[in-house]
Formats: sequence, C-alpha cells, structure tokens
Amino acid sequence: MSFNWSEHFPMLNATMNGKRLAYLDSAATALKPLSVVKVMDDYLLRHTSNVHRGIYHLSEDNTARFEAARERVREFIDAPERESVIFTKGTTESINLVARSWGKTYLKAGDEILITELEHHANIVPWQMIASEVGAKVVAAPLDENKQIDLQAFERLLSSKTKLVAFTLVSNTLGVITPYQEMLKLAKARGITVLLDAAQAAPHFQISVKVLDCDFLVFSGHKIFGPTGVGVLWGKMSLLEAMPPYQGGGNMISVVDIENGTTFNKLPEKFEAGTPAIAEVLGLAAAIDFINTVGFTEIEKRDHELLALATKELKKIPGVKIFGENSPRVATFGFEVEGIHPQDLGSVLDKEGVAIRTGHHCTQPLMKNCGVSAMARASFGPYNTLQDIEQLSSAIAKARRLFL
Ligand code: PMP
Repeated sequence: MSFNWSEHFPMLNATMNGKRLAYLDSAATALKPLSVVKVMDDYLLRHTSNVHRGIYHLSEDNTARFEAARERVREFIDAPERESVIFTKGTTESINLVARSWGKTYLKAGDEILITELEHHANIVPWQMIASEVGAKVVAAPLDENKQIDLQAFERLLSSKTKLVAFTLVSNTLGVITPYQEMLKLAKARGITVLLDAAQAAPHFQISVKVLDCDFLVFSGHKIFGPTGVGVLWGKMSLLEAMPPYQGGGNMISVVDIENGTTFNKLPEKFEAGTPAIAEVLGLAAAIDFINTVGFTEIEKRDHELLALATKELKKIPGVKIFGENSPRVATFGFEVEGIHPQDLGSVLDKEGVAIRTGHHCTQPLMKNCGVSAMARASFGPYNTLQDIEQLSSAIAKARRLFL
C-alpha cells in the first residue's frame, strides 16, 4: 500500500484564495509533517531547558536528545564521525562558515575558487566576499545547451590556481542534477578541496559523504521537511580540526582568561557558539526520522512519477518552455510561458490556488545564461499529486486565455 501523505501533512488540505491549495514551492521550503511539529511543541511547551549547561535532569535529558539528533544527522549523510556534524542556521550560514574560516585561512592572492553558473547566490556571494578580501578570484564553469554543467569546460578551468571547487548537486531553479560524481573525480584527482551544496539534493535522494568523498557538505533542515533556522555543515575531521572558529562566545571555548586569552573547545562545539536552535535541531531529527519511515525508495519513486507526469502535462500547453528539460532532473521545473511575464503568470496561478515561485530564484547568473531576468518555477514534493499537476496546467491555460 502506498504511503498516506495527507495524514501527515495538514497543509495538503489547506485552501488559498478560496481554492484548493496546490503547493508547488517545495524547493523554497518543504511542507512539515505533524511528527516534526509535535517534537518541537513538546520541547517548547513541556521540556524547555538549555543544553550543554545544566546538571539538572531536564537539561541533561535535552543535551542527550540534542546529541542524539546529531547522531541522526550523521547516519542520514553516512558520515564517519558524529563530531564532524556542525549545526548551523542553514545552508547559507554553513557556506559562510567555510568561507570565513577555511577560506580566510587557506586562500591567498591569485588563488581561484571554481563554482558553476547553476549556483544559488548562497554558493556565490560568500566566495566573492572572501575572494575580494584575500585577492583570490571566483570562476564559474559554464553550462551547455541543456543547462547542464559543461564537463570539458569544467575540467579546463581546473588548474594549479584552483584551491576550492564548490557546486550544487541539484539546481534549485531548474532541478537539474549535476554530473557531481565526474566533477568530484576531476577535482579530487588534482587534490582540490570540494564543497557540495546539497540543499536541493537532500530532500530527493540518499547522500553518503563516505561514498562521495567530498570535503564539505551543506544542507538546510527546512527543505527536508524540518523547521527553518537549522542546517548542517559536515566536513572532514582533519579539515574542521585545522580551521579556526567562525564565531566566538559561550559553548565554543575551553578556557577563557583575560590575560592569557582563550582556548577553544573540541569539535563540534568549536563551531557552535551560543545557545543553539534546540527546538529546531530536535525538529530536524524528527524530519530525518520521517524520511527514514517513508524511505528514499518511495520518495524517489514519487519524484520520478511527478517529473514524468508534470513534464507530459506542461508540454501539452502551447508556448511552455521548460529550461534544462533534457538534463537529468528532480521534479522541479524552471519554465516560461511565451508572451506572459512570470510575475503575471504567478498572480493568475495564485488566484487559482497554485503556489509557485517567480523571479530570479537567487540564481541571477543562471538567469543571464538563460537570457531572461525571471522565470516561473514549480517544484514538487513527494506529497504532491496528479491533482496538483492538473490544477497547475489548467491555471496556466487560464493565464493564456487572459493574456494572449
Ligand atoms: N543552495 C541551494 C541550492 C538552495 O536551493 C538554497 C535555498 N533556496 C540555498 C543554497 C540557501 O539555503 P538557505 O536559504 O536555507 O540557507
């Protein structure tokens, strides 16, 4: 029997503008199952205390739950050590942490950071910021006609100057799955440090940092059915151990002395200054439990079905162009409807209860590559249905009647 999604996601029964809600913006943030909210609710209403501080039962209990959540994340990404899992606010903070700490330590004038034209601004701007501070340069691998990373060009851009390669596993705007295994192989063969942005991959397929053999991996809780405000940085222990702290404060210290200065805590605390997002970390662990209950086999099956069905439906509508259609993809569609501005399309869809995103999707270099300033994006979660696809296509058909 297939999984009963609507039992777990109350938002699947919601309405918008008086219409049944078709939530097609999971790439922005995924819907949350009841189990995640229950865990957070329980902590906030019945079990509040700080962690890593008190010796009373409640605090020790929460510290144990907090550290068990870290273990759950370790299993989720198949990391060798629990201490290599750092809790952050999200993908953006994880990348900034690496840029500030690793980048500031190891990048020198003349070095290059190789990214790609598919990247989210979160995987561009932090590198530009640190590059301009140290005199390094950000270089982007171009895309081919299918909006896929041009592997030959990528290889040509790898040189003795390249100190870091940072790229996404899945494009947030087009859903394109990058040739990450080949890219990793090319970079690792040259001994280059690699950071993988798994923000869009983590909700769609199983990730193993052991198998990937990357150096850093980052993702956000809210895109894998967890709460906002929490994310993960995973790094190889040897790299994390050699990196200086990113922020100073409580919890990240070993000894603080005004005269003699401060010595820092061991991993992972060294990178977790201040009170962490406790409810959110517990919620993230519950989200991982939820994924484990459903299983990636089912999640991937749903994704493939939705990708095939939505592609078929969208292609029936005259004037619809799906960017990167011929590349391997998850069920995320960056598209345009000829003659209709994405903003106008989004407004009509909104009135029809269809939640999509329009704009540049925090990927302006990709927009430039596609020759547009904005596009529409419909992104699916495993809880979406054929009914959502039909609602999307009939709303697009309505927009065409209104505007064309
Ligand atoms: N990278 C990718 C590929 C993303 O999709 C996103 C979120 N849209 C981010 C980075 C940034 O994630 P967050 O806003 O959760 O920090």
